[in-house]
Amino acid sequence: MIPCAIAAAAIVAVYALCKCTWWWPRWPRGVPSFLMLHSVSDEVVDASCPNNTIRPRELEALIVRLLKGGYRFRTFTDAASDPGPRDVVLTFDDGYADNYLELLPILRRHGVPATCFVTSRFDDPRFLSRDQLREMDASGLVEIGGHTSDHCVLTSVGLDKARAQIRANKEDLESVLGHPIVSFAYPCGGENDDIVSETRKAGYRFAAAMVKKMRPVGTDPYRIHRQIIPRGMKTWQSYMLATRGKYKI
Ligand SMILES: [Zn+2]
Repeated sequence: MIPCAIAAAAIVAVYALCKCTWWWPRWPRGVPSFLMLHSVSDEVVDASCPNNTIRPRELEALIVRLLKGGYRFRTFTDAASDPGPRDVVLTFDDGYADNYLELLPILRRHGVPATCFVTSRFDDPRFLSRDQLREMDASGLVEIGGHTSDHCVLTSVGLDKARAQIRANKEDLESVLGHPIVSFAYPCGGENDDIVSETRKAGYRFAAAMVKKMRPVGTDPYRIHRQIIPRGMKTWQSYMLATRGKYKI
């Protein structure tokens, strides 16, 4: 009877350890964690996708926890070209104005860099204006990357329009900032081999995709995986997600 009880307890313990990830080693080893976010605001900016708006205090708590854990924050291009094993990359898509109002002060407080993938919707007050973009760029903490002119899903518009969207946005950003833009994110992850080829030909060196699996940097510089950090997570959950790729308990 007693050996049976011990065996049952052992099975339960192994099952529990397999279900929980808190004891897992950092995952994936030797590969920077590229994190994907959008808006930073207490109010949900896009009701159709509330997970795309992280609260400022949630983001700041995650940054503090990662710093405490010995992680090093890098820009997208720095980590893609010279990856370190404890690198974390904060990326923010779409260029919401709250990236200037809410995100930039947090980055300044902690001295950590981030990367914003920005469209050319400068005259829409929901998005970053030219002056806000210039100030973010001049802060030395924000890398600006491309995200097409008006957030078109590149795989659904035909190759000629896709090419024009990629190139016009790059030219817009470079004329606002006065220096080359080298990183890009495909809106809604819409990419295929032709789109990747157009992105490379436009002069981009690295691109963020929505591929499922994390692969070592260098495997495909135009399809770099990112981990989504949704709204409403407790800090230990988002920390697990950022450093292990998943969390369970
Ligand atoms: Zn987007």
